[in-house]
Amino acid sequence: MSVRYLLRGAAPLGDEPTDVLLADGVVSALGADAAQAADDEDVVVLDATGLVLLPGLVDLHTHLREPGREDAETVRSGTRAAALGGYTAVHAMANTSPVADTAGVVEQVWRLGRDAGWVDVHPVGAVTVGLAGERLAELAAMADSAARVRVFSDDGKCVDDPVVMRRALEYVKAFDGVVAQHAQEPRLTENAQMHEGVVSAELGLAGWPAVAEEAIIARDCLLAEHVGSRLHVLHVSTAGSVEIVRWAKSRGIDVTAEATPHHLGLTDDEARGYDPLFKVNPPLRTAADVEALRAGLADGTIDTVGTDHAPHSREDKDCEWAAAAFGMTGLETALSVVQATMVDTGRMTWADVARVMSVTPARIGRVADQGRPIAVGEPANLVLVDPRARRVVEPRRASQSENNPFRGRELPGRVVATFLRGRATVLDGRSVDATTEEV
Ligand SMILES: [Zn+2]
Repeated sequence: MSVRYLLRGAAPLGDEPTDVLLADGVVSALGADAAQAADDEDVVVLDATGLVLLPGLVDLHTHLREPGREDAETVRSGTRAAALGGYTAVHAMANTSPVADTAGVVEQVWRLGRDAGWVDVHPVGAVTVGLAGERLAELAAMADSAARVRVFSDDGKCVDDPVVMRRALEYVKAFDGVVAQHAQEPRLTENAQMHEGVVSAELGLAGWPAVAEEAIIARDCLLAEHVGSRLHVLHVSTAGSVEIVRWAKSRGIDVTAEATPHHLGLTDDEARGYDPLFKVNPPLRTAADVEALRAGLADGTIDTVGTDHAPHSREDKDCEWAAAAFGMTGLETALSVVQATMVDTGRMTWADVARVMSVTPARIGRVADQGRPIAVGEPANLVLVDPRARRVVEPRRASQSENNPFRGRELPGRVVATFLRGRATVLDGRSVDATTEEV
């Protein structure tokens, strides 16, 4: 018989504290019914006074790098980082080597995730063969595979051909899939290094203009409307993009949108030190863009926070700006950044955090057993957070890469425990596994 956990005095969604009993993979009792189990031999009692209980976080945007770049991250290391960050499910992007554009590759990633056991891994399928943007990949075969793919993306690259994008949007309707677009008009961003604006002009770095993102988002919203399909816009980074998504929603278009922690927390001013830690795609934008993203997330225009966790090896990051890879890690710090930018500023409640980091991502990805209410009989995919804690961010904990842009900064919040179907993957802030060491 497996261990049962009694969380004493936890505050579900930041509401009134109560006792919560986890048994047999589900929330088995709440309140006085749960407290009765306190003296049972097989019950581990955790003092959760002052802690917030949320549904386990669900990331729609994780790069796990396996297969192909295991020097930067593996499914095992990346999912352990996810558990430490409070996640119980991640969607693994398709830009691996080989590309996840067949049933064989997505099943391989899915199995690696299952065997690692830290979080549920839902592979994202490539939209086009080899991410080349020309021919549609085997979307139906990936949907029918053991990995049951529902999210399709060429992320890292934009599906820029409007005919290919239209076909993809039409095709995924057959299995209730969604196309997740990396919106970047390629001709407008050739050789681009950072946001096109005052800072890029001062630094003499080639600019990535806001219009290159906004033009693709506007086009794709109209395509989604035209064919009656679902569109998810990855890493929205500009104020104009927020306006376009707001307009599309007001028109009834079935579009959802994501913001990343780094776009909520950082601006292009970071580039002034020429530290490639702050080189990312789409780039960090202006303070006005950051404000528009925060307002959009608070009012529901932006639906989700996705990490775009993009680990890179030292040789790909410790070099001059122009030669460095785009990307930042995020799984271990996303919740803290959202707390700092949205909760501690009074713009969102913990229930809102649960919505944008768990409930809505699970719905978009069609993941039935995640992002659920904290109620008797529901799967015990949960995270306990200490919102009063503060910590200086380490370059990495479980991730194999150190390119976290918040490293060395103090952030609020600490993940105390994470539960995957009632089993603790994190306890007292440390990852728990029978086969690997603690971190
Ligand atoms: Zn991307």
